Amino acid sequence: MLSLSAKRLTSLFGQKRLLSSFDIVYESYGDPRKVLVGKLREIEPLKDGQTLLKFLASPINPADINQIQGVYPIKPTVPAVGGNEGVAEVIESKTTKFKVGDWVIPALAGAGTWRSHAILHENDIIKIDNNLPLESAATISVNPCTAYRMLVDFQHIEEGDVILQNGANSAVGQAVIQIATDLRIKTVNVIRDRPRVEDLKKFLQDLGADYVLTEEECKTQLKDIIQKESAPKLALNCVGGMNATNFLKYIRPKGTMVTYGCMSKIPFKAGAGALIFSDISLKGFWMSRWNDENNKSSERYAMLDYISSLIISKKLKCPPVSRVPLENFSNAIENSMTGFTNFKQLLVN
Ligand code: NDP
Repeated sequence: MLSLSAKRLTSLFGQKRLLSSFDIVYESYGDPRKVLVGKLREIEPLKDGQTLLKFLASPINPADINQIQGVYPIKPTVPAVGGNEGVAEVIESKTTKFKVGDWVIPALAGAGTWRSHAILHENDIIKIDNNLPLESAATISVNPCTAYRMLVDFQHIEEGDVILQNGANSAVGQAVIQIATDLRIKTVNVIRDRPRVEDLKKFLQDLGADYVLTEEECKTQLKDIIQKESAPKLALNCVGGMNATNFLKYIRPKGTMVTYGCMSKIPFKAGAGALIFSDISLKGFWMSRWNDENNKSSERYAMLDYISSLIISKKLKCPPVSRVPLENFSNAIENSMTGFTNFKQLLVN
């Protein structure tokens, strides 16, 4: 097994300098359980404008898996380092914008975060608050931001409004529940049935979920909940299939269903009535595109500040994670590809 600690060699001047990084690399697209390998890579001296980063923790997200499978719109040139999200510490800097000790996240997707060290240009990183818990910092840039944007960008949602979501136990779903709670929006949450489903319902209710239904319970209980509360203006869909098809019956006229994933891999159907008579909008959202279009904008910093403040005030908890040393990535990949796991896999350095 490769040693994770980067090799330290003594330079001619007697100073210790990091010379190599441990990278989790795919040399061709395919099943991540088969194509990922650990490799040592030499680290070059820094040029002006660059920072040397030590990645502290990086999650394994569904998009990372899809990217390695070659079925995601972002297709890095191989060999490529896996991972798109994570938090790193600046350990050497040749820019005045970042100093040693700063915590940063990659500005855009495709950075390759499953590695012990990286050299990134100042334009390619964003500073975040060092006071965040490590696990929250490592997972701040994708899921909570996706949840936030979907809640605020598509409909004018006001206090007391109701939103509907499936995949509610996903990391995005958990962030939706907590941000909606802060915005005083009610959530109706749909999950898949499983053994001990009551434990998961309680977990989501403790995060602030107003209602949690299994897909099966939706068939008999969703209508009553909507009648008691009010019809949602907004539904968030990361599952697809019948689940999303059924949502269209309950969204109020001129409401919106935002699709941001398709975990079931089954398309949903939209009846003509939903579009013609209810004028429901079907929209998609992709955080990577939003970041491309809003990279380093004041709106992005305001969003990160808001999310950081929720985390620090303990209103937004990170989903339960399983910390896995970077060198044991094979186990983490396997676990991340097994359904019904309640833990996000987090590679730690
Ligand atoms: P997590 O790994 O935290 O959770 C995965 C979720 O998918 C769980 O709720 C899981 O439910 C559910 N799921 C898995 N397989 C199936 C299936 N066959 N049918 C129905 N549900 C299933 O995921 P994330 O929160 O990181 O991501 C959730 C989704 O959002 C993914 O599709 C991801 O690609 C997408 N996403 C999209 C973004 C965008 O910008 N568009 C940004 C971030 C995420 P269970 O516990 O029952 O297995």
